[in-house]
Amino acid sequence: MIDTHCHLDQDEFRDDLDDVLARAKSAGVEALVCVAVGAASSENIVRNFAVREGLFAAVGIHPNYTHLVQPGDWERVLALVDEPRVVGLGETGLDRHWDYAPFDLQQDYFDRHLRLSQQTGLPFIVHLRDCEADVMAMLEDARQRGPLTGVMHSFTCSPETAARCVELGLYISFAGMATFKKSDDIRRTAASVPNDRILIETDSPYLSPHPLRGKRNEPAHITHTAAALAAVRNVSIENFAQQTSANARRLFARMK
Ligand SMILES: [Zn+2]
Repeated sequence: MIDTHCHLDQDEFRDDLDDVLARAKSAGVEALVCVAVGAASSENIVRNFAVREGLFAAVGIHPNYTHLVQPGDWERVLALVDEPRVVGLGETGLDRHWDYAPFDLQQDYFDRHLRLSQQTGLPFIVHLRDCEADVMAMLEDARQRGPLTGVMHSFTCSPETAARCVELGLYISFAGMATFKKSDDIRRTAASVPNDRILIETDSPYLSPHPLRGKRNEPAHITHTAAALAAVRNVSIENFAQQTSANARRLFARMK
């Protein structure tokens, strides 16, 4: 399996990263995309994480960190996009749940990532929280300019929104929330996504799947999410793992 979204550079993994990666490997995780939240995080991931076996980088500025951006930070991200182990841009997107960054600033940076993706061909990774209409409007606008390549990460919207994202050219990724008892809506959406567009992720250290809720999440826990999604899609876990890994390698084409 491929964990298409994790934050291994966070403090939660400072003391036991080697053990975390060993457990991921034993659980069948063959590759991981380590997703940045800002310029320093992007540089750190490229230099110190995406140099290890199976680890790849996404570089960018998370919407909830845009108010912390210093002059020159965007240029620091731009300077990394040609690094061979950089497979994506992000995470980007919009967030109305937390009130950290002014919304127009979030929109400015989301727009930069979308344009950069269209210039470079690198896929973007979208964070969407409590602002579906705003995100969809910007994606529709961007689609007017040209083709889109990217993923809606930790997706929680309706099957209809998923279908529109697929029409726009995007992949849909599901995280641990899909395993929660009350998440029938998310599982209904997950059942509706075409075979060639579905991905899985952990969003470690966040969003631990059932029955590990409340604990630090780590890539090895992806097996719980994979089992829940395979069941709702009526395929074997092996089949689902194969399918989602092939999808991840198609989207993150620089992953070798
Ligand atoms: Zn994330």
